[in-house]
Amino acid sequence: MRNKTSRRRFIAQSTSTVLGTQFLCLSPKMTHSQFSVPQNQLNSVSNSDQQKPDSPFEIWDLHGHLAGQKGQTPQERAVRLLHFADRMNITRLCLYMGMSFSYAPTPEEMRQQNDEVLQALQVNQDRLLGFVYLNPQFELESLDELERCVADGPMVGVKLWVAVRAIAPSLDRIVDRATELGAIVFQHSWLKINGNLPGESTPMDVADLARRHPESNIICGHAGGDWEQGICAIKDSENVFIDLGGGDPTAGFTEMAVRELGSDRVIYGSDVPGRSFGTQLAKVLGAEIPEFDKKRILAGNLRSLLSGILGRKGIAL
Ligand SMILES: [Zn+2]
Repeated sequence: MRNKTSRRRFIAQSTSTVLGTQFLCLSPKMTHSQFSVPQNQLNSVSNSDQQKPDSPFEIWDLHGHLAGQKGQTPQERAVRLLHFADRMNITRLCLYMGMSFSYAPTPEEMRQQNDEVLQALQVNQDRLLGFVYLNPQFELESLDELERCVADGPMVGVKLWVAVRAIAPSLDRIVDRATELGAIVFQHSWLKINGNLPGESTPMDVADLARRHPESNIICGHAGGDWEQGICAIKDSENVFIDLGGGDPTAGFTEMAVRELGSDRVIYGSDVPGRSFGTQLAKVLGAEIPEFDKKRILAGNLRSLLSGILGRKGIAL
């Protein structure tokens, strides 16, 4: 059985192992082992325990869903989400997709999914922000839905998931129109070692989309999952922002994003209820970065991206 002293030593050794690697966008000839974390940074890890989730940061959450939450109606689920958000001092929560997940919704399913989000927004139009869920396999119907929910409705962003890869031309008119409306475009991305879904984008695909639409504000969802590669893939695309949501709170993730992209391109999102607010906030609150950067990541960047469209819709900033 492990006694207290050896357990403490075990944890210290584990921490050193995690922090002994500093993640960088490397040239092919460099290896991670060339980099190490200074001893003073290792010492400061214990101090980060003092960071409380009820800290004075304003928090906007980029990434939330109704699917997976308890509740018979969209409104019931929205009320529950806000109840938990209140515990963590999260003032605003972006919602997209309906009561159940659908990889490639038909036009009818798209409308239903977006209707469910519109119903959820009724619970609190200042705190809940809607993104319209579109399937570019149905380009014209997606453009109609964009008009209904963003141009003529209360939504402020576009959500693209796994129906069509971001390299496809069928995204182009959708992204152009979203940009005209001042909406941001959230593109899910992942790099799976066992292979992506056929229509699932990689962060490299997101970079391609951003190059085709340099005036658009595009979110690289989940930082590509494999975030070391994801951050490097979008580094040179200055109109791409990283979503921190949806993976484990691994040491070094947020630090690398800030170092490589600058804190103005990093945005906190949870992917609730698939992930908890607590684990996802920990990525920012526990990161070894200045408080100024945490403020940008937790609310400042998203507010700035949405300020124009919120203002035009008369939604308080
Ligand atoms: Zn999600």
